[in-house]
Amino acid sequence: SPLSNLAVRDIETVLHPYTNLDKHRQTGPLVLERGKGIYVYDSTGKQYIEGMAGLWCTSLGYGNEELVEAAAEQMRRISFTHLFAGKSHDPAIELAEKLKAIAPNDASKVFFVSSGSEANDTQVKMIWYINNALGRPNKKKIISRHRGYHGVTIASASLTGLPANHADFDLPLPGILHTDAPHPYRSRQDGESDADLATRLADSLEAMILREGPETVAAFIAEPVMGAGGVIIPPATYYEKVQAVLARYDILYIDDEVICGFGRLGTMFGAEAFGIRPNSVSVAKALSSAYQPIGAVIVDEGMYQAMVEESRKIGTFGHGYTYSGHPVAAAVACKTLDIYERDNILGQVNRVSPTFLKRLTALGDHPLVGEARGMGLIGALEIVADKATRRSFDPKSAVAAKIAALAEEEGLIVRAAFGDIVALCPPLIISEDEIGEMFDRLTRALDRAEAWVSGQSLR
Ligand code: PLP
Repeated sequence: SPLSNLAVRDIETVLHPYTNLDKHRQTGPLVLERGKGIYVYDSTGKQYIEGMAGLWCTSLGYGNEELVEAAAEQMRRISFTHLFAGKSHDPAIELAEKLKAIAPNDASKVFFVSSGSEANDTQVKMIWYINNALGRPNKKKIISRHRGYHGVTIASASLTGLPANHADFDLPLPGILHTDAPHPYRSRQDGESDADLATRLADSLEAMILREGPETVAAFIAEPVMGAGGVIIPPATYYEKVQAVLARYDILYIDDEVICGFGRLGTMFGAEAFGIRPNSVSVAKALSSAYQPIGAVIVDEGMYQAMVEESRKIGTFGHGYTYSGHPVAAAVACKTLDIYERDNILGQVNRVSPTFLKRLTALGDHPLVGEARGMGLIGALEIVADKATRRSFDPKSAVAAKIAALAEEEGLIVRAAFGDIVALCPPLIISEDEIGEMFDRLTRALDRAEAWVSGQSLR
């Protein structure tokens, strides 16, 4: 069909993130105009279920008037002030108090940022800063994981463990290393139990630390459940074993809760679901249900004291963004956390999650689906050419991307993640009926994709 006026203007002007720029010139954008609840509407008025909560972030859905009002009220009061050089404002203070009260670490202080990437960039700089303070300037390496996603700034893209974020960017930075992902479907060896896999991965992490020299390794960073890397749910004992290794070599734990935080897995933080005891925590996205860009780094007392020590020596902590703790974003985040508590968002997630997981796992029988996995209200379908051997399609066939495109035609937004995986992450406010409608639309898209695969002889 001919491109709309908006689409033509987009092609002529907008340089899109994470987009095949060549293809975009032909296909143009999907222009979304408005939203209500779990639904969004494009510029032709067509309705979609936002099965990805935007980018894993709009937990309270769209059109929440309380959040609109919180933003407007703060803009009327004081639209901007900052936290530099000891200035402060009440939304930042209140939000820091709220985060401290619920954080999964022994929280001491909160540093505000505007995104997940900025949070993880800040984590890297804090780790370096702290180890200077502690008089061990060589202990600065950070271990992340293949398939982990931690953002796109120079340091956070280095932490990210996906090829697209490194190739052509001369990344990762030296001193940022990647160990294997805990991906049972893809990495369990013949006869290996989940517990054996967890042990093997912890052993290989330990071997990496010993190879590098424990005196050079400062921190480990992980998402409790990997999101963009394919919604990868680790074996139950994995983090316990990883933490035992880290403890042996005095290595800090950075917990990236940018997707898992605020109820996604049915616990306030993913750390609680897996027994993770982090030193430092990154949050963003659902912190404001994406009504405003805001994130935070929540550090423990030990990290805070080391930072105080170092700033005493050199005169300042030389890091921060103009919008660190933006008052409008902070006010909206405070209101978001109030709503999570008042409306018992955890109760809601745990009430509807069984229906979500039942419909999701039923798709494991579909000829295109090698594994259907999920937890809380996040899930994924791992697309395979051959269910018995787990053989993937040729990546050039981009079958998951085709499924996402067909789902869009069916009125459902899902996301094709790395490794031919279809990800699902609906707003947390989704009802059981809406879950049913979401999976009906997804099933129609999968059936059409199967017909397309057969028609093109892609197996
Ligand atoms: N960390 C995780 C776990 C994420 O999923 C993301 C984004 O998807 C980020 C960090 C980066 O966040 P942002 O895109 O807000 O910079």
